[in-house]
Amino acid sequence: MPNVEQHVSFCVRDFGAENRELCYMVNSWIDAPVRTGGGAYHREKRHNMQTTPFDACSIYGDKGTSATPRNLLVARMVLQHLRLDGLITPLEDQSWQWNAVLEQNRNERLQAAADDVKFKNWLREEHAREEAKEARIIRRSRVRKRILYSLGIALLIVGAYFSYFTIFVGMPAQVLDGGTLFIYEINSKRSRQLR
Ligand SMILES: [Zn+2]
Repeated sequence: MPNVEQHVSFCVRDFGAENRELCYMVNSWIDAPVRTGGGAYHREKRHNMQTTPFDACSIYGDKGTSATPRNLLVARMVLQHLRLDGLITPLEDQSWQWNAVLEQNRNERLQAAADDVKFKNWLREEHAREEAKEARIIRRSRVRKRILYSLGIALLIVGAYFSYFTIFVGMPAQVLDGGTLFIYEINSKRSRQLR
């Protein structure tokens, strides 16, 4: 890959000595991340056929999105740099058109914004679903708690009732004794009949 000086000399060769300063500014700006981030990193930054020409124009061109002669010149310098770096083919360089790429970028941005809205709606719906589910669980556990609470009170009342009779009246003992007596009587009647 050419270094900045080589890029500048190719740029001057194709775009004229009168643009030497611009050649130097554009090419060193494109490769500036290389000096801080290393080779692979520099390809990620400022080496995009679709966006970098416009980014460069916003600094060194006439700014804005109109295809002024200076903007087109800066865009061509960027494309030449990418071609010499081996990132785009000569055909891609030649067929690159300001308005078409601008339109493409705009559509992609619109699509991304639409996707973002869709994603946010989906998140909101998902959140609402989660909340409804939680509310249902809370409601169910409240009902369960109420049932258990009532059962507990009923058991307490029954327990208190029987405790009262066991301690002060001895009724369960009588009931039990009566039952035992009854069974005993049946058995003894049977045994008497058998005899
Ligand atoms: Zn480069």
